[in-house]
Amino acid sequence: MATQRAEGKRYGPADAGWLAAHAANASAEALIAAVLGDAAWGRVAVVSSFGAESAVLLDLVAEVNPAVPVLFVDTGRLFVETLAYARDLSAHLGLRDVRWISPDPDALARVDGKGLRWSYDPDGCCEVRKVLPLAGALQAFDSWISGRKRFQADTRARLAKVEADGVRLKVNPLADWSAAMLAARAAERRLPPHPLVAEGYPSIGCQPCTTKVQPGEDPRAGRWRGWDKTECGIHAPPGSEPAF
Ligand code: SF4
Repeated sequence: MATQRAEGKRYGPADAGWLAAHAANASAEALIAAVLGDAAWGRVAVVSSFGAESAVLLDLVAEVNPAVPVLFVDTGRLFVETLAYARDLSAHLGLRDVRWISPDPDALARVDGKGLRWSYDPDGCCEVRKVLPLAGALQAFDSWISGRKRFQADTRARLAKVEADGVRLKVNPLADWSAAMLAARAAERRLPPHPLVAEGYPSIGCQPCTTKVQPGEDPRAGRWRGWDKTECGIHAPPGSEPAF
Protein backbone atom coordinates (compact mmCIF):
# COMPACT_ATOMS: atom_id res chain seq x y z
CA MET A 1 0.00 0.00 0.00
CA ALA A 2 1.33 3.42 -0.95
CA THR A 3 2.28 5.89 1.74
CA GLN A 4 -0.73 8.00 2.72
CA ARG A 5 -0.76 11.66 3.67
CA ALA A 6 -3.36 12.99 6.11
CA GLU A 7 -3.24 16.53 4.79
CA GLY A 8 -2.97 17.92 1.32
CA LYS A 9 0.12 19.37 -0.27
CA ARG A 10 1.29 22.76 0.89
CA TYR A 11 3.33 25.10 -1.24
CA GLY A 12 5.27 28.27 -0.67
CA PRO A 13 6.73 31.22 -2.56
CA ALA A 14 9.81 29.23 -3.61
CA ASP A 15 7.65 26.61 -5.31
CA ALA A 16 5.59 29.30 -7.00
CA GLY A 17 8.68 31.17 -8.17
CA TRP A 18 10.23 28.07 -9.69
CA LEU A 19 6.98 27.10 -11.40
CA ALA A 20 6.34 30.65 -12.58
CA ALA A 21 9.75 30.76 -14.24
CA HIS A 22 9.06 27.52 -16.06
CA ALA A 23 5.53 28.56 -17.02
CA ALA A 24 6.43 32.06 -18.20
CA ASN A 25 6.35 31.16 -21.88
CA ALA A 26 3.85 28.31 -21.72
CA SER A 27 0.65 28.69 -23.68
CA ALA A 28 -2.60 28.72 -21.75
CA GLU A 29 -3.50 25.35 -23.20
CA ALA A 30 -0.17 23.80 -22.21
CA LEU A 31 -0.25 25.24 -18.71
CA ILE A 32 -3.81 24.07 -18.06
CA ALA A 33 -2.98 20.61 -19.38
CA ALA A 34 0.09 20.48 -17.14
CA VAL A 35 -1.74 21.62 -14.02
CA LEU A 36 -4.68 19.25 -14.53
CA GLY A 37 -2.54 16.33 -15.62
CA ASP A 38 0.36 16.34 -13.16
CA ALA A 39 -0.03 15.17 -9.57
CA ALA A 40 2.65 17.67 -8.54
CA TRP A 41 -0.02 20.37 -8.47
CA GLY A 42 -2.14 18.39 -6.01
CA ARG A 43 -5.88 18.79 -5.90
CA VAL A 44 -6.87 21.50 -8.36
CA ALA A 45 -10.00 23.64 -8.65
CA VAL A 46 -10.98 26.39 -11.03
CA VAL A 47 -12.50 29.55 -9.57
CA SER A 48 -14.93 31.41 -11.80
CA SER A 49 -17.27 34.35 -11.36
CA PHE A 50 -19.15 33.45 -14.56
CA GLY A 51 -18.59 37.04 -15.54
CA ALA A 52 -17.94 38.83 -18.81
CA GLU A 53 -14.71 37.01 -19.67
CA SER A 54 -15.18 33.69 -17.91
CA ALA A 55 -16.16 31.56 -20.88
CA VAL A 56 -12.74 31.29 -22.49
CA LEU A 57 -10.97 29.90 -19.42
CA LEU A 58 -13.80 27.49 -18.65
CA ASP A 59 -13.81 26.29 -22.25
CA LEU A 60 -10.06 25.67 -22.16
CA VAL A 61 -10.46 23.73 -18.91
CA ALA A 62 -13.43 21.74 -20.18
CA GLU A 63 -11.43 20.66 -23.21
CA VAL A 64 -8.89 19.02 -20.91
CA ASN A 65 -11.18 17.73 -18.17
CA PRO A 66 -14.85 18.77 -17.80
CA ALA A 67 -15.02 17.05 -14.41
CA VAL A 68 -12.62 19.47 -12.72
CA PRO A 69 -14.27 21.19 -9.74
CA VAL A 70 -15.32 24.75 -10.61
CA LEU A 71 -15.97 26.99 -7.60
CA PHE A 72 -18.56 29.72 -8.12
CA VAL A 73 -19.26 32.07 -5.23
CA ASP A 74 -22.88 33.16 -5.27
CA THR A 75 -22.66 36.20 -3.01
CA GLY A 76 -26.40 36.62 -2.82
CA ARG A 77 -26.06 39.98 -4.58
CA LEU A 78 -25.25 38.83 -8.12
CA PHE A 79 -27.29 39.84 -11.17
CA VAL A 80 -30.01 37.32 -12.00
CA GLU A 81 -28.44 37.28 -15.48
CA THR A 82 -25.21 35.95 -13.96
CA LEU A 83 -27.02 33.14 -12.16
CA ALA A 84 -28.73 32.13 -15.39
CA TYR A 85 -25.48 32.42 -17.31
CA ALA A 86 -23.70 30.17 -14.80
CA ARG A 87 -26.27 27.46 -15.40
CA ASP A 88 -26.37 27.92 -19.19
CA LEU A 89 -22.62 28.12 -19.74
CA SER A 90 -21.96 25.13 -17.47
CA ALA A 91 -24.41 23.08 -19.50
CA HIS A 92 -23.01 24.37 -22.80
CA LEU A 93 -19.46 23.39 -21.87
CA GLY A 94 -20.47 20.11 -20.24
CA LEU A 95 -18.89 21.05 -16.91
CA ARG A 96 -19.76 18.28 -14.51
CA ASP A 97 -18.72 19.63 -11.11
CA VAL A 98 -19.68 23.29 -10.73
CA ARG A 99 -19.94 24.02 -7.02
CA TRP A 100 -22.11 26.97 -5.98
CA ILE A 101 -20.59 28.43 -2.85
CA SER A 102 -22.70 30.62 -0.54
CA PRO A 103 -21.84 32.89 2.39
CA ASP A 104 -22.35 31.44 5.85
CA PRO A 105 -25.90 32.48 6.90
CA ASP A 106 -24.92 33.16 10.51
CA ALA A 107 -21.97 35.32 9.50
CA LEU A 108 -24.16 37.13 7.02
CA ALA A 109 -26.82 37.82 9.66
CA ARG A 110 -24.15 39.11 12.01
CA VAL A 111 -22.21 41.27 9.56
CA ASP A 112 -24.76 42.25 6.94
CA GLY A 113 -28.20 41.66 8.39
CA LYS A 114 -29.78 44.45 6.35
CA GLY A 115 -27.97 43.54 3.13
CA LEU A 116 -26.60 47.06 2.81
CA ARG A 117 -23.01 46.65 3.96
CA TRP A 118 -21.86 47.18 0.38
CA SER A 119 -23.06 50.81 0.65
CA TYR A 120 -20.80 51.84 3.56
CA ASP A 121 -18.17 49.08 3.92
CA PRO A 122 -17.62 47.23 0.65
CA ASP A 123 -14.44 45.59 1.98
CA GLY A 124 -16.38 44.08 4.87
CA CYS A 125 -19.18 43.05 2.52
CA CYS A 126 -16.75 41.34 0.13
CA GLU A 127 -15.06 39.64 3.07
CA VAL A 128 -18.24 37.95 4.33
CA ARG A 129 -19.84 37.34 0.95
CA LYS A 130 -16.82 36.38 -1.21
CA VAL A 131 -13.49 36.00 0.54
CA LEU A 132 -14.50 33.81 3.46
CA PRO A 133 -16.81 31.49 1.49
CA LEU A 134 -14.13 30.93 -1.16
CA ALA A 135 -11.46 30.40 1.48
CA GLY A 136 -13.60 27.70 3.02
CA ALA A 137 -14.16 25.99 -0.32
CA LEU A 138 -10.46 26.14 -1.18
CA GLN A 139 -9.52 24.24 1.96
CA ALA A 140 -10.04 21.05 -0.02
CA PHE A 141 -7.54 22.05 -2.73
CA ASP A 142 -3.82 22.61 -3.16
CA SER A 143 -3.87 24.73 -6.31
CA TRP A 144 -6.44 26.86 -8.06
CA ILE A 145 -6.81 28.32 -11.51
CA SER A 146 -7.97 31.90 -11.99
CA GLY A 147 -8.92 33.78 -15.16
CA ARG A 148 -7.17 37.08 -14.39
CA LYS A 149 -5.36 38.95 -17.16
CA ARG A 150 -2.66 41.63 -17.05
CA PHE A 151 -4.56 44.01 -19.30
CA GLN A 152 -7.53 44.20 -16.93
CA ALA A 153 -6.06 46.70 -14.48
CA ASP A 154 -2.86 48.42 -13.40
CA THR A 155 -2.88 46.26 -10.29
CA ARG A 156 -2.65 43.19 -12.52
CA ALA A 157 -0.05 44.50 -14.96
CA ARG A 158 2.74 42.26 -13.66
CA LEU A 159 0.65 39.22 -12.95
CA ALA A 160 2.72 35.99 -13.01
CA LYS A 161 1.33 32.81 -14.46
CA VAL A 162 1.95 31.02 -11.15
CA GLU A 163 1.76 32.71 -7.75
CA ALA A 164 1.93 31.64 -4.13
CA ASP A 165 -1.43 32.17 -2.45
CA GLY A 166 -0.85 31.44 1.20
CA VAL A 167 -0.17 27.69 1.28
CA ARG A 168 -1.60 27.15 -2.20
CA LEU A 169 -0.54 27.75 -5.75
CA LYS A 170 -2.61 30.06 -7.90
CA VAL A 171 -2.35 29.62 -11.64
CA ASN A 172 -3.23 32.36 -14.14
CA PRO A 173 -3.06 30.72 -17.58
CA LEU A 174 -4.52 33.77 -19.35
CA ALA A 175 -2.22 36.30 -17.69
CA ASP A 176 -0.63 37.38 -20.99
CA TRP A 177 -3.79 37.28 -23.12
CA SER A 178 -5.15 40.48 -24.63
CA ALA A 179 -8.79 41.45 -25.02
CA ALA A 180 -8.45 40.76 -28.75
CA MET A 181 -7.15 37.25 -28.12
CA LEU A 182 -10.06 36.53 -25.81
CA ALA A 183 -12.57 37.84 -28.33
CA ALA A 184 -11.02 35.80 -31.13
CA ARG A 185 -11.05 32.63 -29.09
CA ALA A 186 -14.65 33.21 -27.96
CA ALA A 187 -15.71 33.76 -31.58
CA GLU A 188 -13.79 30.76 -32.86
CA ARG A 189 -15.38 28.52 -30.24
CA ARG A 190 -18.78 30.22 -30.51
CA LEU A 191 -18.92 30.67 -26.76
CA PRO A 192 -22.13 32.22 -25.42
CA PRO A 193 -21.48 35.71 -24.02
CA HIS A 194 -22.69 36.96 -20.67
CA PRO A 195 -25.98 38.71 -21.56
CA LEU A 196 -25.00 41.95 -19.79
CA VAL A 197 -21.92 42.57 -21.95
CA ALA A 198 -24.13 43.78 -24.79
CA GLU A 199 -25.80 46.20 -22.37
CA GLY A 200 -22.55 48.00 -21.53
CA TYR A 201 -21.03 45.93 -18.76
CA PRO A 202 -17.53 44.72 -19.79
CA SER A 203 -16.78 43.66 -16.20
CA ILE A 204 -19.50 42.15 -14.05
CA GLY A 205 -19.59 41.63 -10.31
CA CYS A 206 -22.39 42.06 -7.82
CA GLN A 207 -25.40 44.10 -8.86
CA PRO A 208 -25.04 46.91 -6.27
CA CYS A 209 -21.35 47.42 -7.11
CA THR A 210 -21.38 47.21 -10.91
CA THR A 211 -22.28 50.05 -13.26
CA LYS A 212 -22.12 50.44 -17.00
CA VAL A 213 -18.85 51.59 -18.56
CA GLN A 214 -18.69 54.43 -21.05
CA PRO A 215 -16.62 54.30 -24.27
CA GLY A 216 -12.96 55.04 -23.48
CA GLU A 217 -13.21 54.06 -19.83
CA ASP A 218 -11.18 51.27 -18.25
CA PRO A 219 -13.15 48.01 -18.54
CA ARG A 220 -13.22 47.73 -14.75
CA ALA A 221 -14.22 51.37 -14.20
CA GLY A 222 -17.76 50.28 -13.46
CA ARG A 223 -16.75 48.16 -10.49
CA TRP A 224 -17.17 49.90 -7.10
CA ARG A 225 -17.52 53.20 -8.91
CA GLY A 226 -16.79 56.10 -6.59
CA TRP A 227 -14.68 54.00 -4.24
CA ASP A 228 -10.89 53.56 -4.31
CA LYS A 229 -11.53 49.82 -4.33
CA THR A 230 -10.42 47.75 -7.30
CA GLU A 231 -10.39 44.16 -6.02
CA CYS A 232 -12.79 42.13 -3.93
CA GLY A 233 -10.06 40.67 -1.72
CA ILE A 234 -10.08 37.17 -3.20
CA HIS A 235 -6.84 38.03 -4.95
CA ALA A 236 -4.61 39.14 -2.11
CA PRO A 237 -1.20 40.60 -2.97
CA PRO A 238 1.46 37.94 -3.59
CA GLY A 239 3.04 36.69 -0.39
CA SER A 240 0.24 37.87 1.89
CA GLU A 241 -1.60 35.46 4.11
CA PRO A 242 -5.35 35.06 3.99
CA ALA A 243 -7.20 37.00 6.69
CA PHE A 244 -8.89 34.04 8.33
S1 SF4 B 1 -19.04 43.30 -4.80
FE1 SF4 B 1 -20.37 44.65 -3.57
S2 SF4 B 1 -22.21 43.46 -3.04
FE2 SF4 B 1 -20.63 42.03 -3.82
S3 SF4 B 1 -19.66 41.25 -2.00
FE3 SF4 B 1 -18.41 43.00 -2.68
S4 SF4 B 1 -19.25 44.86 -1.67
FE4 SF4 B 1 -20.72 43.15 -1.41
